[in-house]
Amino acid sequence: MLSYQLFINVTKEINLKVGKLGTFIFPVGYYFYTGSAKKNIDKRIKRHLSKKKNFHWHIDYLLNNDAVHIIDIKKSEMTECSLNKKTKGTIIIHGFGSSDCNLFCKSHLKYEENIALAELTANAVGGYK
Ligand SMILES: [Zn+2]
Repeated sequence: MLSYQLFINVTKEINLKVGKLGTFIFPVGYYFYTGSAKKNIDKRIKRHLSKKKNFHWHIDYLLNNDAVHIIDIKKSEMTECSLNKKTKGTIIIHGFGSSDCNLFCKSHLKYEENIALAELTANAVGGYK
């Protein structure tokens, strides 16, 4: 597996400082975060599910919030950027998770307010396992 995607629900609007990237408002709704790990993808996913860790990636700041829940996780044979580009949704935070992006994605976090549209998007990129 080359990449993974987290399907995330934010249940309450949050105002959050994301490391050096800045402080942003995350509206209520659904988010797709696309990432990859060079060595062990399962280990990386396990890390995302753990609340006890030092903040290293932008996503760590978001996942630590009590109003943020991972709904589902998918692994993909696509590269991180290809999977991200295939994912619909709005970019609300430029540069989130895409510091080492090489396909000019602008952000590896995409937002969708509507659950039905979010589920359509999840299925369009291969569904969740
Ligand atoms: Zn990218």
